[in-house]
Amino acid sequence: MIRKENKVAKDKKKYDSQGREIIPLKQQEELPQQLNPIQLNELGAKTPRAFIKQRKGRGGGQFDYVEIGYVIDKLNRIFGPLGWDSESELVPELSTELFVTVKATLTIKDHKGSFIKKQAFGGVDRKFFKNKPHIPANYVDIADDAKSAEADAMKKAASKFGVAFDVFYPDVIRIKELVVKEESPAPFTCDRCKKLGKETTITEQQAKMTKDFFGFKLCDHCRMEAMKYKAEKEENKSSKTTEKMVQCKRCSKEISEAQAKYSKKMFKKPLCKECQKKEK
Ligand SMILES: [Zn+2]
Ligand SMILES: [Zn+2]
Repeated sequence: MIRKENKVAKDKKKYDSQGREIIPLKQQEELPQQLNPIQLNELGAKTPRAFIKQRKGRGGGQFDYVEIGYVIDKLNRIFGPLGWDSESELVPELSTELFVTVKATLTIKDHKGSFIKKQAFGGVDRKFFKNKPHIPANYVDIADDAKSAEADAMKKAASKFGVAFDVFYPDVIRIKELVVKEESPAPFTCDRCKKLGKETTITEQQAKMTKDFFGFKLCDHCRMEAMKYKAEKEENKSSKTTEKMVQCKRCSKEISEAQAKYSKKMFKKPLCKECQKKEK
């Protein structure tokens, strides 16, 4: 976007908390209209899968593309039908009997009359009647070829404004995503899942909470498993203590603690059932 000369001295500039320059209202009026956040959002939005089509490339392989109608609709929604214009011209020096090249100029205007242009070349193979020699006499429709070439050029020009950028420059998007991944801190993952060869992401809060309680960072599922395990262990421990064995004073047979307790109360010594009968 074009910007008129800023009359404010550099050291007098003001910035907001995020480091963006705060431009005084009066001065804002003098600047060419910048895109607002809604427009920028719309430009940067991911192209819906339904609008992405595929075609075979010249050198083989598949290429994603969008129809010209999608691009026009997007331009209308972002800039308004009166906010943009396009021109195109045939480029003879880049065209042959087999191929036609068009140069498109896309112009975006603001309400003050400031404008900015993006240009791009586009082209298509000319279409010939089936099973006929590829000579001009057998062109199916030269106007149709020109229209296709124009659409191709316009889409490329619009992509320079950011329209369907993700479709036309997938490599840039991939790299950008990788960079974001590298820059963001490593996510918190479940320690137990990791041991099982899975990677489960958990929140920082959950990681901290489970680490404090279990000594491991755990996901919801593994936290439940750990709870179960802990409960089972506790149960085993308590059942073991109740099953602590005591020997019968008379025959040395093992009896339970509860039995011993009862016997002590009744006979003043721990006795098995048989010996209790004999004691009577
Ligand atoms: Zn887990
Ligand atoms: Zn006994």
